[in-house]
Amino acid sequence: MSMRTDVVVIGGGQSGLAAGYHLRRLGVDSVILDAQATPGGAWQHAWDSLRLFSPAAYSSLPGRLMPPQSGQTYPDAAHVVEYLADYEKRYELPVRRGVRVSAVHRDGAFLRVGTDCGDWRARAVISATGTWTRPFLPAVPGRREYTGRQLHTVEYESPAAFAGQRVIVVGGGNSGAQIAADLAGHADLTWVTRRPPRYLADDIDGRALFDAATARRRALDEGRADTGGVASLGDIVAVPPVRAARDAGLLHARPMFSRLTAAGAEWADGTRSVADAVIWCTGFRPALAHFAALRLRGARGRIATDGTRAVDEPRLHLIGYGDWTGPASATLIGVGRPARDAAREVAALLG
Ligand code: FAD
Repeated sequence: MSMRTDVVVIGGGQSGLAAGYHLRRLGVDSVILDAQATPGGAWQHAWDSLRLFSPAAYSSLPGRLMPPQSGQTYPDAAHVVEYLADYEKRYELPVRRGVRVSAVHRDGAFLRVGTDCGDWRARAVISATGTWTRPFLPAVPGRREYTGRQLHTVEYESPAAFAGQRVIVVGGGNSGAQIAADLAGHADLTWVTRRPPRYLADDIDGRALFDAATARRRALDEGRADTGGVASLGDIVAVPPVRAARDAGLLHARPMFSRLTAAGAEWADGTRSVADAVIWCTGFRPALAHFAALRLRGARGRIATDGTRAVDEPRLHLIGYGDWTGPASATLIGVGRPARDAAREVAALLG
């Protein structure tokens, strides 16, 4: 026996909630299935010192401004979790927690959504499963030989666990810079990046990034030259802790090592560093394994989309994974618009 609804939203983080908000406004019958037991999506697992790169008001989902966090311009992850929990309650969003979607199949006029708590039959699906559950580690020679501790961004919590240790942080993006800054002064830090770190100007935060992402999408939509978007501005937002560590001379990046050895890392010129731990801040991939049976996946594990709609399965929409599902779709302020577009298209499809 399967349960019936018009739309299943898979994932109850910020993207799934934004979709739920718009579906509800349009009067579409839906359910939001989320694997976790409690609200907040990936923000529940952020490291202790993580701060948003935008002020609260610029980190808001549709309909409700994020309230400021007292004493903080850039709120912490716990504040985001609180905001998301309040958001779903306020709008009475139909979230079912502790439900993991394992596979989606075509079933005539329906999509059958298989979960560990039974099947759902829906006329459309919006996928909002994020990337946090799919950490990416590059294939580096010697990774299996190395005997120290290896962890990914998703497992990092605080510098306390690394006090006095020799730690290599890999990655020149925001996670790498923030975790390197977090460890600087507590651990014997080696920070390695594939290219020299590219800091955004100190006065650029998430507001400017959102504007750049929107301008790029508009230029592409109108057939104008690619503005380069956010990537043209730099890789690392100089949030206060990163700026402080950089200005104190604690953040020196070395080029990427060529291999790991049993004891640490070795560079192409033969120099070596012994390390107790290597922290891979090397990004994520979209969590889309549940669509394997639909055979939609293309390059880099992505599904080809036109706006938010899957090109080869018009009953499926994707939001939140990155710019390929809408400008700044993987941010709090940016997901509102793709969520609205997806909800409207789904409502039109349902007639
Ligand atoms: P998630 O928050 O990951 O939520 C997805 C939900 O789907 C989760 O609850 C998950 O358990 C569930 N799920 C996954 N698979 C399944 C399944 N098969 N079945 C059922 N449920 C499933 N954005 C900003 O706007 N400002 C910032 O300052 C900012 N800083 C960031 C810092 C870091 C380190 C990272 C990684 C991202 C940051 N982002 C920031 C980007 C973005 O806001 C977050 O990645 C956000 O968590 C994405 O939300 P989401 O809802 O798309 O995915």
